[in-house]
Amino acid sequence: MTIKCPAKINLSLDVIGKREDGYHLLRMIMQTVSLFDNVTVQKGSEGINIYCNKSSVPCNENNSAYKAAKLILDKFQIKSGVDILIDKEIPVAAGLAGGSTDAAGVIKAMNEIFKLHMTMEDMMEIGLKVGADVPYCIIGGTALAEGIGEKLTVLKQFKETWCVLAKPPISVSTADVYGSLKLDEIVRHPDTEELIDNIEKEEIDILAKGMVNVLETVTIKEYPIILEIKNIMKEFNALGSLMSGSGPTVFGLFRDKAEAEKCYHRLRDYLKEVYLVKTL
Ligand code: ATP
Repeated sequence: MTIKCPAKINLSLDVIGKREDGYHLLRMIMQTVSLFDNVTVQKGSEGINIYCNKSSVPCNENNSAYKAAKLILDKFQIKSGVDILIDKEIPVAAGLAGGSTDAAGVIKAMNEIFKLHMTMEDMMEIGLKVGADVPYCIIGGTALAEGIGEKLTVLKQFKETWCVLAKPPISVSTADVYGSLKLDEIVRHPDTEELIDNIEKEEIDILAKGMVNVLETVTIKEYPIILEIKNIMKEFNALGSLMSGSGPTVFGLFRDKAEAEKCYHRLRDYLKEVYLVKTL
């Protein structure tokens, strides 16, 4: 069985505090986009075998898809093994939840293949053991994620919107970004309620202008290319542009395909990882 596993972007990302165990408390509006990993899952004879077309992705117990498969094999005491083939299109370590979406895909596929009759809630519970973004990746669409990302509220489906994704050739560690964030130095927090209101009213122009990711305060200081890409997107008439997650991918929302295409071609002149997609 092959599952299309979509990437996500953050229409906003706010950090509102810290838990005693050091995890940050978040409020994020998440949105899936039409950039997919294709994950093929089938019954195997023994153990968990992972194959991936990208060498930077670990094909062992560190792979998020492996972790999801192991949790399910153990929980349901399944004797046979499972073979997982990840055809990766989503850039790795990009702020687009590539690993989380693969894990979500494996959970859904194994639910079908082994006829486990798990509800969405059951699958989300297993997903959370793999990572905080996995429960969201199981539901997809437009959602508010709170807590460490696991408390989800489904929002009105975001109107289909053209979007350009551009990943600069830098690697950013999620742990370092959160570690360097000083809560009292955040200059602008997103107005999450207003953003949700604008999603409800389908006011995409106003929404795009209100998008804020507080983690940009950390990453832009260190990697000015993130701001440069945001500015190019604005020059090319993006309704708004923002870094996704802990970066470094930047996305822009556009009024129509023609505008998005112009921006896509401009960015392709100097970046390898640029994608023209739609919100799902
Ligand atoms: P998030 O937005 O959830 O923070 P991300 O897009 O920044 O995720 P991933 O693409 O999930 O980051 O990759 C983070 C790290 O996880 C990579 O460095 C990679 O080595 C490892 N990894 C484990 N499993 C996978 C997978 N299935 N796909 C991609 N990376 C994986």
